[in-house]
Formats: sequence, C-alpha cells, structure tokens
Amino acid sequence: MNPLSEISVLVAGSGAVRAHPTRGGPCYVVTIDGKNLLFDCGRCAVHNISRFSIPVETVSAVYITHLHFDHICDLPLLLLLSWNNGRTERMPVYGPKGIAGFLENGLRLAYTNDIKSRQGHGKNTDYLGWDTTELTQEGVVVETESYTIDTLVTKHGGLLNFNYRIRIADKIVVIMSDSEPDPRIVDFCRGANIVLIECSGTKEFFDTVPWGSWHTTPEQVGQLMRDAGAKKVVLKHLVIESFRDNDPKVSESMADTIRTVYPDGEIFVGEDGMKFDI
Ligand SMILES: [Zn+2]
Ligand SMILES: [Zn+2]
Repeated sequence: MNPLSEISVLVAGSGAVRAHPTRGGPCYVVTIDGKNLLFDCGRCAVHNISRFSIPVETVSAVYITHLHFDHICDLPLLLLLSWNNGRTERMPVYGPKGIAGFLENGLRLAYTNDIKSRQGHGKNTDYLGWDTTELTQEGVVVETESYTIDTLVTKHGGLLNFNYRIRIADKIVVIMSDSEPDPRIVDFCRGANIVLIECSGTKEFFDTVPWGSWHTTPEQVGQLMRDAGAKKVVLKHLVIESFRDNDPKVSESMADTIRTVYPDGEIFVGEDGMKFDI
C-alpha cells in the first residue's frame, strides 16, 4: 500500500429518512488517489455529490450498509444518470444480500420503457450495467494495491447490516451504519483516523419512537469512540433534528454529551459538504 496516498472523506448527506432543508440522506464519499468510493446512496445523494464537485460518472464503486430505503433510494438514479452521462464501465455495487434483487426490480424492471427508449437513440446498455457482490457475512470485501475494505455486522432493524472499514497504508477510515450499540464496534474502530457514526437521537427521544432500540445514544457513541481511541468522530444520520423544527442546536447538544464522555476526541456535527483530508 502507498503511504503517500491522498485520502479525503466527504459527508455528502448528513441526514436520514425525513426531508430536511439542509441535510440530504445518508451518503459519504471516500476518495483515495482520485478514486471515488461511495458509501450509501440515500435521499439527495446524486444531487449532493454534484453540488460538492463529484460528477456522478466519476463514482468508481458503491458500498451499501443496509437495505432501509433512506440508504438506497438514490442508487437506481446514480446508475441511470452515470450511464446517461457517459459512464464506460460496469459499476461494482457491494451490499447486503438482496441488493441485486433491489436493482433488478427497482431499476431494470422499473425503468424498462426508459431503457428501451434510450436504446432507440443508440445508447449502449452495456454501460448501464452493474456487478453486485452480495455480502452475507462480515470480513474482507475488497483488497487492492492501495487499500483494503472489511466489514463488521451489527444489529439494526432486523436487517443484515454492514459497517465498513477502509485501511489505506497506516490510515483507517470507518463508515458506520445505523446500529444498535455493540462492544465489538470498539475493536473495529480502534485507532481510526476518522469515524462517521450515526447520532440519530437521544435516549429520551428513542423512548418515544417504535424504532428507537435500533440505534445508538450519544452517551453510547461517546463510550464506544473513547474506548476505540478514534481521532475524529463525525456525527451523521441526524434524525432527531427533523422532529425538533430542524434546529441544529439539538445536534450540537448531542455532540456536547459525547464530548463530555470523550473529552480527548475531536467531535464534529456532520454537515452536507463537510470534507476531511486524512
Ligand atoms: Zn437510516
Ligand atoms: Zn436503517
């Protein structure tokens, strides 16, 4: 691996399911020596990566954490639009078992008429193509000369759920999924240069919604990141704001809770367009 690799991490969407005036749904881009790896492809992902100067046709591969719609709803659009814009290679798509069926139904079948129409003016459907790797268990997903990507499976909403870790020489970037707390997260994130981790809401908030137990509280985020010694911690999937008049103070207050538990960490409230050079 090249120790001089240039690495950046972009928060393309810091929000989650609900519409929010400034937060798109889950989408993060890890760029390694100019190669754009996209993690999750939720609401506004395609629009946002364009806003943040990543043309859709320059995405090299897609990694999906789980099959909740807020993490995959823009994936058909990403594949269609990159094809439209001149993508010339099949897109590798990694995700939980079921991702292939999602694309067959949600893209190839759903857009049958559109695809036929575009073939009529000479568009080559070879380049619409994608190659899915359906993950069923944790472990190494990809190994290249410059980086390795492996996963940790954690519980979330009864779905097969993958957290991704990218190792580039001595650098570690972790893109966590939505997740219940799990002590194994500590080892998975140990010594990471940066961890993007969900901060969906407070315990008091989770007690009021039926899906609250699927997620991690700010106190738990603080403990996990402190025990892992993660250097930069970026909070994302900020659901609660959408229930609190989109007031950013709600997220800042969760960040303060985390800082209390983990005073040595650098804690950031994610914003769409926030970019870190690693
Ligand atoms: Zn989600
Ligand atoms: Zn989810």
